[in-house]
Amino acid sequence: LAAPEPLSADVLERRISTFAEVQEHYYTEPPEIERGWREHLIDVHAQCYLDLVNNVALTGHAHPRLVKAVSNQWSLLNTNSRFNYSALPRFTERLVALAPEGLDTVFLVNSGSEAVDLALRLAKTYTGNDAVLAFQEAYHGWTVGADAVSSSIGDNPRALETRPDWVHVIDAPHPFRGTHRGADSAARYLDDLEARLGVLDDAGTGLAAFIGEPVFGNAGGVLLPDGYLAGVFEKVRSRGGLTISDEVQVGYGRLGEYFWGVEQQGVTPDIITIAKGMGNGQPVGAVITRRDIAEKFAEEGSLFSSAGGSPVSCVVGLTVLDILRDEGLQENARTVGGDLKAKLLTLQGQHDIIGAVHGLGLYLGVELVRDLATLEPASAEASEICEELLREGCIVQPTGDYKNVLKIKPPLNITTESVDFFVEALDRVLSARSRR
Ligand code: PMP
Repeated sequence: LAAPEPLSADVLERRISTFAEVQEHYYTEPPEIERGWREHLIDVHAQCYLDLVNNVALTGHAHPRLVKAVSNQWSLLNTNSRFNYSALPRFTERLVALAPEGLDTVFLVNSGSEAVDLALRLAKTYTGNDAVLAFQEAYHGWTVGADAVSSSIGDNPRALETRPDWVHVIDAPHPFRGTHRGADSAARYLDDLEARLGVLDDAGTGLAAFIGEPVFGNAGGVLLPDGYLAGVFEKVRSRGGLTISDEVQVGYGRLGEYFWGVEQQGVTPDIITIAKGMGNGQPVGAVITRRDIAEKFAEEGSLFSSAGGSPVSCVVGLTVLDILRDEGLQENARTVGGDLKAKLLTLQGQHDIIGAVHGLGLYLGVELVRDLATLEPASAEASEICEELLREGCIVQPTGDYKNVLKIKPPLNITTESVDFFVEALDRVLSARSRR
Protein backbone atom coordinates (compact mmCIF):
# COMPACT_ATOMS: atom_id res chain seq x y z
CA LEU A 1 0.00 0.00 0.00
CA ALA A 2 0.99 3.60 -0.50
CA ALA A 3 1.44 5.60 2.71
CA PRO A 4 -2.06 6.38 3.93
CA GLU A 5 -3.33 9.88 3.52
CA PRO A 6 -3.25 11.67 6.86
CA LEU A 7 -6.57 12.26 8.56
CA SER A 8 -8.00 15.33 6.91
CA ALA A 9 -6.62 18.26 8.88
CA ASP A 10 -10.09 19.50 9.50
CA VAL A 11 -11.33 16.37 11.29
CA LEU A 12 -8.18 15.91 13.37
CA GLU A 13 -8.07 19.57 14.40
CA ARG A 14 -11.74 19.63 15.28
CA ARG A 15 -11.30 16.43 17.28
CA ILE A 16 -8.41 17.87 19.26
CA SER A 17 -10.09 21.19 19.90
CA THR A 18 -13.25 19.81 21.54
CA PHE A 19 -12.54 16.18 22.55
CA ALA A 20 -10.41 15.82 25.72
CA GLU A 21 -7.04 14.76 24.41
CA VAL A 22 -6.52 12.24 27.20
CA GLN A 23 -8.85 10.09 25.08
CA GLU A 24 -5.99 9.22 22.77
CA HIS A 25 -6.15 8.23 19.13
CA TYR A 26 -4.19 5.51 17.35
CA TYR A 27 -1.23 6.51 15.15
CA THR A 28 0.51 9.83 14.59
CA GLU A 29 -1.29 10.25 11.27
CA PRO A 30 -4.38 8.10 11.57
CA PRO A 31 -6.40 7.21 8.50
CA GLU A 32 -9.93 8.57 8.51
CA ILE A 33 -12.05 5.46 8.75
CA GLU A 34 -15.41 5.54 7.05
CA ARG A 35 -16.78 2.04 7.23
CA GLY A 36 -16.17 -1.51 8.38
CA TRP A 37 -16.90 -4.89 6.87
CA ARG A 38 -16.11 -8.22 8.58
CA GLU A 39 -12.46 -7.95 9.71
CA HIS A 40 -11.77 -4.95 7.45
CA LEU A 41 -11.86 -1.19 7.92
CA ILE A 42 -12.03 1.14 4.93
CA ASP A 43 -10.93 4.77 4.96
CA VAL A 44 -12.30 7.77 3.10
CA HIS A 45 -9.83 7.09 0.27
CA ALA A 46 -11.16 3.53 -0.12
CA GLN A 47 -7.96 2.17 1.40
CA CYS A 48 -8.68 -1.14 3.10
CA TYR A 49 -7.13 -2.21 6.42
CA LEU A 50 -7.15 -5.52 8.22
CA ASP A 51 -8.46 -4.85 11.74
CA LEU A 52 -6.46 -7.04 14.11
CA VAL A 53 -7.14 -5.00 17.21
CA ASN A 54 -10.89 -4.70 17.45
CA ASN A 55 -12.02 -7.31 19.92
CA VAL A 56 -15.25 -5.37 20.40
CA ALA A 57 -16.41 -6.25 16.88
CA LEU A 58 -16.70 -9.92 17.85
CA THR A 59 -18.90 -10.93 14.89
CA GLY A 60 -17.07 -8.57 12.50
CA HIS A 61 -17.97 -5.06 11.46
CA ALA A 62 -21.42 -4.22 10.06
CA HIS A 63 -22.78 -7.75 10.37
CA PRO A 64 -26.00 -7.68 8.28
CA ARG A 65 -27.94 -9.85 10.73
CA LEU A 66 -27.05 -7.55 13.61
CA VAL A 67 -27.79 -4.42 11.60
CA LYS A 68 -31.25 -5.79 10.78
CA ALA A 69 -32.01 -6.89 14.33
CA VAL A 70 -30.94 -3.56 15.83
CA SER A 71 -32.82 -1.42 13.37
CA ASN A 72 -35.92 -3.56 13.77
CA GLN A 73 -35.80 -3.33 17.58
CA TRP A 74 -35.15 0.42 17.51
CA SER A 75 -38.21 0.87 15.34
CA LEU A 76 -40.33 -1.24 17.71
CA LEU A 77 -39.27 -0.29 21.22
CA ASN A 78 -36.35 0.90 23.28
CA THR A 79 -36.97 1.59 26.94
CA ASN A 80 -35.57 0.67 30.33
CA SER A 81 -35.46 -2.57 32.25
CA ARG A 82 -38.22 -1.57 34.69
CA PHE A 83 -40.63 -2.38 31.88
CA ASN A 84 -41.48 -5.96 31.05
CA TYR A 85 -40.40 -7.25 27.60
CA SER A 86 -39.32 -10.68 26.42
CA ALA A 87 -35.86 -9.81 25.10
CA LEU A 88 -34.59 -9.36 28.66
CA PRO A 89 -35.31 -12.83 30.07
CA ARG A 90 -34.39 -14.40 26.75
CA PHE A 91 -30.96 -12.78 27.02
CA THR A 92 -30.37 -13.48 30.72
CA GLU A 93 -31.46 -17.12 30.26
CA ARG A 94 -28.94 -17.53 27.44
CA LEU A 95 -26.19 -16.02 29.58
CA VAL A 96 -27.00 -18.27 32.54
CA ALA A 97 -27.02 -21.31 30.24
CA LEU A 98 -23.54 -20.37 29.04
CA ALA A 99 -22.18 -19.45 32.48
CA PRO A 100 -20.16 -21.84 34.61
CA GLU A 101 -22.18 -24.10 36.94
CA GLY A 102 -23.79 -22.24 39.82
CA LEU A 103 -23.73 -18.76 38.29
CA ASP A 104 -27.44 -18.30 37.80
CA THR A 105 -28.16 -14.57 38.13
CA VAL A 106 -27.40 -11.67 35.80
CA PHE A 107 -27.08 -7.90 36.15
CA LEU A 108 -27.15 -5.99 32.85
CA VAL A 109 -25.10 -2.81 32.50
CA ASN A 110 -23.46 -0.89 29.65
CA SER A 111 -19.71 -1.42 29.81
CA GLY A 112 -16.85 -3.37 31.27
CA SER A 113 -16.03 -0.58 33.72
CA GLU A 114 -19.57 -0.61 35.06
CA ALA A 115 -19.55 -4.40 35.33
CA VAL A 116 -16.28 -4.33 37.30
CA ASP A 117 -17.53 -1.54 39.58
CA LEU A 118 -20.70 -3.47 40.30
CA ALA A 119 -18.79 -6.71 40.89
CA LEU A 120 -16.63 -4.96 43.49
CA ARG A 121 -19.71 -3.53 45.20
CA LEU A 122 -21.34 -6.99 45.24
CA ALA A 123 -18.25 -8.51 46.84
CA LYS A 124 -17.94 -5.78 49.45
CA THR A 125 -21.60 -6.03 50.39
CA TYR A 126 -21.64 -9.82 50.48
CA THR A 127 -18.51 -10.21 52.59
CA GLY A 128 -18.73 -7.07 54.68
CA ASN A 129 -15.04 -6.63 53.91
CA ASP A 130 -13.24 -3.94 51.98
CA ALA A 131 -9.87 -5.26 50.81
CA VAL A 132 -9.48 -6.37 47.20
CA LEU A 133 -6.54 -8.20 45.63
CA ALA A 134 -5.73 -7.24 42.06
CA PHE A 135 -2.86 -8.04 39.70
CA GLN A 136 -0.13 -5.62 38.92
CA GLU A 137 -0.23 -4.63 35.20
CA ALA A 138 -4.00 -5.11 35.17
CA TYR A 139 -6.54 -2.89 33.46
CA HIS A 140 -10.17 -3.19 34.53
CA GLY A 141 -11.70 0.11 33.41
CA TRP A 142 -11.99 3.81 34.11
CA THR A 143 -14.77 4.26 36.71
CA VAL A 144 -13.70 4.91 40.31
CA GLY A 145 -13.78 1.27 41.41
CA ALA A 146 -12.51 -0.25 38.16
CA ASP A 147 -9.70 2.30 37.99
CA ALA A 148 -8.74 1.58 41.60
CA VAL A 149 -7.99 -2.08 40.77
CA SER A 150 -6.11 -1.14 37.58
CA SER A 151 -2.37 -0.74 38.07
CA SER A 152 -0.94 -0.98 34.58
CA ILE A 153 1.88 1.54 34.38
CA GLY A 154 1.55 1.28 30.60
CA ASP A 155 -1.78 3.08 30.97
CA ASN A 156 -0.95 5.24 34.00
CA PRO A 157 2.73 5.67 34.94
CA ARG A 158 1.79 6.70 38.52
CA ALA A 159 -0.66 3.83 38.99
CA LEU A 160 1.31 1.94 41.63
CA GLU A 161 1.78 4.98 43.89
CA THR A 162 -1.82 6.10 43.71
CA ARG A 163 -3.98 3.04 44.47
CA PRO A 164 -6.46 3.53 47.33
CA ASP A 165 -5.82 1.71 50.63
CA TRP A 166 -8.40 -1.01 50.03
CA VAL A 167 -6.57 -2.21 46.90
CA HIS A 168 -3.73 -4.68 47.41
CA VAL A 169 -1.76 -5.02 44.21
CA ILE A 170 -0.28 -8.51 43.93
CA ASP A 171 2.55 -9.76 41.76
CA ALA A 172 1.24 -10.79 38.34
CA PRO A 173 2.06 -14.43 37.63
CA HIS A 174 3.73 -13.70 34.31
CA PRO A 175 5.58 -16.89 33.32
CA PHE A 176 7.60 -15.09 30.62
CA ARG A 177 8.97 -12.00 32.34
CA GLY A 178 7.62 -12.14 35.91
CA THR A 179 9.35 -12.73 39.25
CA HIS A 180 9.09 -16.49 38.68
CA ARG A 181 9.31 -17.92 35.17
CA GLY A 182 8.04 -20.96 33.36
CA ALA A 183 4.71 -22.76 32.99
CA ASP A 184 5.38 -24.57 36.29
CA SER A 185 5.87 -21.38 38.34
CA ALA A 186 2.42 -21.37 40.02
CA ALA A 187 3.63 -22.82 43.35
CA ARG A 188 6.28 -20.11 43.74
CA TYR A 189 3.79 -17.32 43.03
CA LEU A 190 1.33 -18.92 45.46
CA ASP A 191 3.97 -19.10 48.21
CA ASP A 192 4.64 -15.38 47.76
CA LEU A 193 0.92 -14.68 47.87
CA GLU A 194 0.54 -16.70 51.07
CA ALA A 195 3.23 -14.57 52.71
CA ARG A 196 1.51 -11.42 51.52
CA LEU A 197 -1.87 -12.61 52.82
CA GLY A 198 -0.25 -13.50 56.15
CA VAL A 199 0.57 -9.81 56.62
CA LEU A 200 -3.05 -8.87 55.90
CA ASP A 201 -4.28 -11.62 58.27
CA ASP A 202 -2.03 -10.33 61.05
CA ALA A 203 -3.38 -6.84 60.53
CA GLY A 204 -6.95 -8.21 60.75
CA THR A 205 -7.74 -7.14 57.17
CA GLY A 206 -10.71 -9.13 55.85
CA LEU A 207 -10.85 -9.85 52.13
CA ALA A 208 -13.77 -8.77 49.95
CA ALA A 209 -12.44 -10.20 46.71
CA PHE A 210 -9.74 -11.14 44.30
CA ILE A 211 -10.21 -9.72 40.78
CA GLY A 212 -8.16 -10.76 37.79
CA GLU A 213 -8.22 -11.59 34.11
CA PRO A 214 -8.09 -15.40 33.83
CA VAL A 215 -5.81 -15.03 30.82
CA PHE A 216 -3.74 -11.91 31.21
CA GLY A 217 -5.20 -9.83 28.37
CA ASN A 218 -3.65 -6.50 29.25
CA ALA A 219 -0.19 -8.09 29.19
CA GLY A 220 -0.91 -9.46 25.69
CA GLY A 221 -2.75 -12.74 26.24
CA VAL A 222 -0.31 -14.30 28.68
CA LEU A 223 -1.56 -17.64 30.04
CA LEU A 224 -1.37 -17.92 33.82
CA PRO A 225 0.76 -20.81 35.07
CA ASP A 226 -1.18 -24.06 35.48
CA GLY A 227 -2.90 -24.35 38.84
CA TYR A 228 -2.38 -20.71 39.76
CA LEU A 229 -6.03 -19.60 39.95
CA ALA A 230 -7.03 -22.76 41.81
CA GLY A 231 -4.52 -21.80 44.49
CA VAL A 232 -5.61 -18.16 44.60
CA PHE A 233 -9.30 -19.05 44.79
CA GLU A 234 -8.65 -21.45 47.65
CA LYS A 235 -6.69 -18.83 49.61
CA VAL A 236 -9.21 -16.05 48.99
CA ARG A 237 -12.22 -18.21 49.83
CA SER A 238 -10.64 -19.56 53.01
CA ARG A 239 -10.47 -15.91 54.13
CA GLY A 240 -14.12 -15.26 53.28
CA GLY A 241 -13.47 -13.36 50.04
CA LEU A 242 -15.14 -13.76 46.63
CA THR A 243 -13.43 -14.41 43.32
CA ILE A 244 -14.09 -12.22 40.28
CA SER A 245 -13.05 -13.28 36.80
CA ASP A 246 -12.85 -10.29 34.47
CA GLU A 247 -13.75 -11.84 31.11
CA VAL A 248 -14.27 -8.52 29.31
CA GLN A 249 -11.37 -9.13 26.93
CA VAL A 250 -10.68 -12.84 26.89
CA GLY A 251 -14.11 -14.40 27.46
CA TYR A 252 -17.04 -15.10 25.12
CA GLY A 253 -15.43 -17.66 22.82
CA ARG A 254 -12.37 -15.65 21.81
CA LEU A 255 -9.96 -18.22 23.23
CA GLY A 256 -11.40 -20.85 20.89
CA GLU A 257 -10.91 -23.84 23.14
CA TYR A 258 -12.83 -22.18 25.99
CA PHE A 259 -15.89 -19.96 26.09
CA TRP A 260 -14.80 -18.40 29.40
CA GLY A 261 -11.14 -17.70 30.10
CA VAL A 262 -11.49 -19.10 33.59
CA GLU A 263 -12.12 -22.58 32.14
CA GLN A 264 -8.49 -22.63 31.04
CA GLN A 265 -7.54 -22.69 34.74
CA GLY A 266 -10.23 -25.26 35.59
CA VAL A 267 -11.93 -23.16 38.27
CA THR A 268 -15.32 -21.50 38.79
CA PRO A 269 -15.44 -17.91 40.02
CA ASP A 270 -18.18 -16.37 42.18
CA ILE A 271 -18.61 -13.48 39.77
CA ILE A 272 -17.95 -12.97 36.05
CA THR A 273 -17.71 -9.54 34.42
CA ILE A 274 -18.25 -9.30 30.69
CA ALA A 275 -18.79 -6.53 28.09
CA LYS A 276 -17.08 -5.40 24.87
CA GLY A 277 -17.74 -8.16 22.30
CA MET A 278 -21.03 -9.22 23.91
CA GLY A 279 -22.56 -6.08 22.36
CA ASN A 280 -20.34 -5.96 19.27
CA GLY A 281 -19.97 -2.22 19.85
CA GLN A 282 -23.41 -1.50 21.30
CA PRO A 283 -22.83 -0.66 24.99
CA VAL A 284 -23.70 -3.98 26.65
CA GLY A 285 -22.12 -5.34 29.81
CA ALA A 286 -23.07 -7.90 32.43
CA VAL A 287 -22.22 -9.29 35.81
CA ILE A 288 -23.05 -12.97 36.20
CA THR A 289 -23.08 -14.31 39.72
CA ARG A 290 -24.84 -16.50 42.27
CA ARG A 291 -28.33 -15.75 43.49
CA ASP A 292 -27.25 -15.46 47.15
CA ILE A 293 -24.68 -12.79 46.22
CA ALA A 294 -27.27 -10.84 44.21
CA GLU A 295 -29.81 -11.14 47.03
CA LYS A 296 -27.42 -9.83 49.63
CA PHE A 297 -26.86 -6.78 47.43
CA ALA A 298 -30.63 -6.22 47.34
CA GLU A 299 -30.45 -5.50 51.08
CA GLU A 300 -28.64 -2.29 50.14
CA GLY A 301 -31.59 -1.04 48.10
CA SER A 302 -32.38 -1.31 44.42
CA LEU A 303 -30.16 -1.07 41.37
CA PHE A 304 -31.21 0.71 38.22
CA SER A 305 -29.22 1.32 35.04
CA SER A 306 -31.19 3.53 32.64
CA ALA A 307 -29.91 1.85 29.50
CA GLY A 308 -28.54 -1.41 30.93
CA GLY A 309 -30.67 -4.30 29.68
CA SER A 310 -32.71 -2.11 27.31
CA PRO A 311 -34.65 -3.94 24.58
CA VAL A 312 -32.12 -2.84 21.97
CA SER A 313 -29.16 -3.97 24.10
CA CYS A 314 -30.80 -7.33 24.83
CA VAL A 315 -31.59 -7.90 21.15
CA VAL A 316 -28.03 -7.02 20.24
CA GLY A 317 -26.77 -9.42 22.93
CA LEU A 318 -29.04 -12.22 21.71
CA THR A 319 -28.15 -11.67 18.06
CA VAL A 320 -24.42 -11.71 18.82
CA LEU A 321 -24.91 -15.05 20.58
CA ASP A 322 -26.96 -16.36 17.63
CA ILE A 323 -24.22 -15.35 15.20
CA LEU A 324 -21.52 -16.88 17.39
CA ARG A 325 -23.44 -20.16 17.41
CA ASP A 326 -24.68 -20.23 13.81
CA GLU A 327 -21.36 -19.19 12.25
CA GLY A 328 -19.25 -21.37 14.56
CA LEU A 329 -17.13 -18.39 15.57
CA GLN A 330 -15.65 -19.95 18.71
CA GLU A 331 -14.49 -22.86 16.55
CA ASN A 332 -13.12 -20.38 13.99
CA ALA A 333 -11.18 -18.72 16.83
CA ARG A 334 -9.75 -22.13 17.71
CA THR A 335 -8.74 -23.18 14.20
CA VAL A 336 -7.79 -19.88 12.54
CA GLY A 337 -6.27 -18.61 15.82
CA GLY A 338 -4.30 -21.84 16.22
CA ASP A 339 -3.03 -21.53 12.65
CA LEU A 340 -2.09 -17.87 13.25
CA LYS A 341 -0.22 -18.73 16.43
CA ALA A 342 1.70 -21.50 14.66
CA LYS A 343 2.71 -19.08 11.89
CA LEU A 344 3.75 -16.44 14.42
CA LEU A 345 5.88 -19.04 16.22
CA THR A 346 7.56 -19.78 12.89
CA LEU A 347 8.28 -16.04 12.54
CA GLN A 348 9.73 -16.09 16.06
CA GLY A 349 12.32 -18.58 14.81
CA GLN A 350 13.31 -16.13 12.05
CA HIS A 351 13.30 -12.80 13.91
CA ASP A 352 15.21 -12.33 17.17
CA ILE A 353 13.07 -9.37 18.15
CA ILE A 354 10.16 -11.76 18.84
CA GLY A 355 10.73 -12.94 22.41
CA ALA A 356 7.48 -14.85 22.79
CA VAL A 357 4.11 -15.48 21.21
CA HIS A 358 1.47 -15.48 23.94
CA GLY A 359 -2.15 -16.43 23.98
CA LEU A 360 -4.76 -18.77 22.69
CA GLY A 361 -7.35 -18.72 19.92
CA LEU A 362 -7.84 -15.19 18.66
CA TYR A 363 -6.31 -13.46 21.66
CA LEU A 364 -2.60 -13.44 20.86
CA GLY A 365 0.37 -11.28 21.81
CA VAL A 366 3.70 -10.97 20.03
CA GLU A 367 6.19 -9.84 22.68
CA LEU A 368 9.07 -7.80 21.25
CA VAL A 369 12.40 -7.71 23.06
CA ARG A 370 15.81 -6.15 22.36
CA ASP A 371 17.69 -8.99 23.95
CA LEU A 372 16.52 -12.56 24.36
CA ALA A 373 18.61 -13.00 27.52
CA THR A 374 17.68 -9.81 29.40
CA LEU A 375 14.19 -9.53 27.83
CA GLU A 376 14.68 -5.77 27.57
CA PRO A 377 11.36 -4.60 26.13
CA ALA A 378 11.46 -3.30 22.54
CA SER A 379 8.92 -0.57 23.28
CA ALA A 380 9.96 2.09 20.76
CA GLU A 381 10.36 -0.62 18.13
CA ALA A 382 6.83 -1.93 18.84
CA SER A 383 5.37 1.48 18.22
CA GLU A 384 7.38 1.91 14.98
CA ILE A 385 6.38 -1.58 13.83
CA CYS A 386 2.70 -0.69 14.34
CA GLU A 387 3.17 2.41 12.16
CA GLU A 388 4.95 0.28 9.53
CA LEU A 389 2.20 -2.34 9.66
CA LEU A 390 -0.38 0.37 9.05
CA ARG A 391 1.37 1.11 5.75
CA GLU A 392 1.05 -2.61 4.99
CA GLY A 393 -2.68 -2.35 5.60
CA CYS A 394 -2.72 -3.99 9.05
CA ILE A 395 -4.05 -2.36 12.21
CA VAL A 396 -2.20 -3.64 15.30
CA GLN A 397 -1.44 -1.86 18.58
CA PRO A 398 1.00 -2.43 21.45
CA THR A 399 -0.08 -3.35 24.98
CA GLY A 400 1.38 -4.16 28.41
CA ASP A 401 3.35 -2.26 31.02
CA TYR A 402 6.13 -1.64 28.49
CA LYS A 403 3.91 -1.33 25.42
CA ASN A 404 6.12 -3.90 23.71
CA VAL A 405 3.54 -6.60 22.98
CA LEU A 406 1.61 -6.50 19.71
CA LYS A 407 -1.93 -7.43 20.68
CA ILE A 408 -3.80 -9.45 18.12
CA LYS A 409 -7.50 -9.79 18.85
CA PRO A 410 -9.43 -9.46 15.59
CA PRO A 411 -13.12 -10.11 14.90
CA LEU A 412 -13.78 -13.83 15.36
CA ASN A 413 -14.83 -14.35 11.74
CA ILE A 414 -11.36 -13.51 10.43
CA THR A 415 -10.33 -15.80 7.57
CA THR A 416 -7.14 -17.78 6.97
CA GLU A 417 -6.51 -15.56 3.96
CA SER A 418 -6.53 -12.45 6.18
CA VAL A 419 -4.31 -14.14 8.76
CA ASP A 420 -1.78 -14.97 6.02
CA PHE A 421 -1.94 -11.38 4.78
CA PHE A 422 -0.95 -10.20 8.28
CA VAL A 423 1.79 -12.77 8.83
CA GLU A 424 3.38 -11.90 5.48
CA ALA A 425 3.16 -8.18 6.29
CA LEU A 426 4.76 -8.67 9.71
CA ASP A 427 7.51 -10.79 8.15
CA ARG A 428 8.21 -8.06 5.57
CA VAL A 429 8.27 -5.31 8.21
CA LEU A 430 10.61 -7.23 10.53
CA SER A 431 12.88 -8.30 7.62
CA ALA A 432 13.13 -4.72 6.36
CA ARG A 433 14.09 -3.52 9.86
CA SER A 434 16.82 -6.11 10.26
CA ARG A 435 18.32 -5.05 6.88
CA ARG A 436 18.55 -1.39 7.98
N1 PMP B 1 -11.89 -5.09 31.97
C1 PMP B 1 -10.96 -5.37 31.03
C2 PMP B 1 -10.15 -6.61 31.17
C3 PMP B 1 -10.78 -4.52 29.95
O1 PMP B 1 -9.86 -4.81 29.03
C4 PMP B 1 -11.59 -3.37 29.83
C5 PMP B 1 -11.46 -2.42 28.64
N2 PMP B 1 -10.32 -2.47 27.91
C6 PMP B 1 -12.52 -3.10 30.82
C7 PMP B 1 -12.67 -3.99 31.86
C8 PMP B 1 -13.39 -1.87 30.76
O2 PMP B 1 -14.32 -2.00 29.76
P1 PMP B 1 -15.05 -0.72 29.12
O3 PMP B 1 -14.05 -0.01 28.27
O4 PMP B 1 -16.19 -1.32 28.36
O5 PMP B 1 -15.53 0.13 30.24
